[in-house]
Amino acid sequence: MKPYRVLVTDVLAQVGIDVLSQAAEVDMRPGISSEELKSIIGDYDALIVRSTTKVTREIIEAAKKLRVIGRAGVGVDNIDVVAATERGIYVVNSPDAVTIAAAEHTMALLLALARRVVQAHSAMNTANKSGGSVDRKKFMGTQLAGKTMGIIGIGRIGSYVAKLSQAFGMRVIGYDPFVTIESARQKGIEWKELEVLLKEADVISLHVPLTDETYHMLDTRQFEMMKDGVMIINTSRGAVINEAALYKALVGGKVAGAAVDVVEAEPPWKTKLLELENVIVTPHLGASTVEAQEVAARDIAEQLLTVLKGEIPRNAVNLPPIPIEVREFLKPFMQLAERIGRFQSQICRGGIKLIQLFHAGQLASYDTAPLTSAFLKGFLEVRLSEAVNYLNAPVIARSRGIGFTDERTTEDVGYSNLITARVITTQEQWTVSGSLIRDVGMRIVRINQYHVDVIPEGHALVFEQYDKPGIVGRVGTLLGSHNINIANMQLGRERVGGHSIMIMLVDNPVPNELLEQMKTFPNIIDVRSVYFGPPLSETMQSP
Ligand code: NAD
Repeated sequence: MKPYRVLVTDVLAQVGIDVLSQAAEVDMRPGISSEELKSIIGDYDALIVRSTTKVTREIIEAAKKLRVIGRAGVGVDNIDVVAATERGIYVVNSPDAVTIAAAEHTMALLLALARRVVQAHSAMNTANKSGGSVDRKKFMGTQLAGKTMGIIGIGRIGSYVAKLSQAFGMRVIGYDPFVTIESARQKGIEWKELEVLLKEADVISLHVPLTDETYHMLDTRQFEMMKDGVMIINTSRGAVINEAALYKALVGGKVAGAAVDVVEAEPPWKTKLLELENVIVTPHLGASTVEAQEVAARDIAEQLLTVLKGEIPRNAVNLPPIPIEVREFLKPFMQLAERIGRFQSQICRGGIKLIQLFHAGQLASYDTAPLTSAFLKGFLEVRLSEAVNYLNAPVIARSRGIGFTDERTTEDVGYSNLITARVITTQEQWTVSGSLIRDVGMRIVRINQYHVDVIPEGHALVFEQYDKPGIVGRVGTLLGSHNINIANMQLGRERVGGHSIMIMLVDNPVPNELLEQMKTFPNIIDVRSVYFGPPLSETMQSP
């Protein structure tokens, strides 16, 4: 009898099963329903999935013995990582295994689209069966050499697609707020703001994770900005494009053709795009090469056994939140730093140029490196698909060319402790300070030049505005009519009637359409939506 039981619910290459079988009983149940998975998961020590199985909170809560969930691939958006972390279950993935496969599939789609390979093949097939002939003029293609490839998301796959595109003689431009101009240049990519990329590219290829920010990042407005006759390739996640808007742009001729490996309703890959002749759709095959599957399966099997033996795996998406060596004292400050990081990541627009952290008051006599890691974790995890944790956050930031400095000061700053983060981007600069106040708890106390008093939890709206009457009423009425409750409100202003900032804590996320509506209200300059994170635990509140 082997000591562990492992359940595999998506297709896994044999090599992974062979590795696991050395120490575990392995049950293969591809295609299992979520109801059945929930009923049997309690018997297993480990679970392996790819992108099909949805590992929900409900399933995780039914998993009494589970110690690790392995994702044989990159994206973990089908796994409730927060629920797993809460129960002390490791989530491990294999981020590097599928990079080449996904990039090659991107090029396969691009070439097939540019040269109308799929349509020409179908026409040949039909002609062959009916004894007719093919009208070759219908399949006139487009050359790639000399064209501009616009890559959105210059991570592992985006960078490799850049390299392959260069080999085809394309000029490559790219947008990624977490990649500096210099590190893009080293890859032969001209870094551009998103709007510039949309205007200049002949081909646009998406390589971003699906996050709140990237959801529908290509929508009607973005399609309108593009060159006439642009080609769209998507091998990332379906929902980063508003499919209905893409459909319209294809029908209207703005977009000449689209080739996608991912769609919004997945599975069962239902998409209206298939009605159109200038579209190619594949069923999420980006990672499906024999080579990638073998590497991913072996890697994930080895990591599972590492966890089951009680050791730390190499690619844990959710390493235990507080490193053992960090003193108890720093724990609540790490949480504060992480919340400031999340806030800054969502509030700042443009490419990141520099992050400056200042630790003041009683913090000045401690090693503040864990606070910097916590800030970077909060800052990076909002947007990256790779596993960010306290240990690897600084490494990831450095590998992306994001510069950060960390200073300590004993100067009197008016608080017994103060963490300040200044983020400088290609477009703007935000400075945010937070403190742990005795008998009060964690607070954001300053945003740019304004003093505020904000509990960093839940959802918030950040308004830049002129301090004039009527704004709160209008916003409140709009939110109320959509059943969104205002929990708290804070105003920071320089003088009566002047430029001011308002933070409104709300009980639910505010949809984009409402934000757009608010931006049209008189005296509102801008509105941004931020999610600080779940409610702060009582234990973390007091210093
Ligand atoms: P990665 O983390 O290495 O790169 C993602 C990049 O996107 C990062 O550099 C990040 O800074 C950037 N990014 C985040 N938010 C952004 C934004 N708003 N605008 C522009 N850039 C932004 O990930 P990767 O390994 O390159 O994977 C990229 C995507 O491809 C993921 O969504 C992954 O799930 C998907 N993927 C799909 C398949 C497939 O089968 N089709 C296979 C593998 C990966």
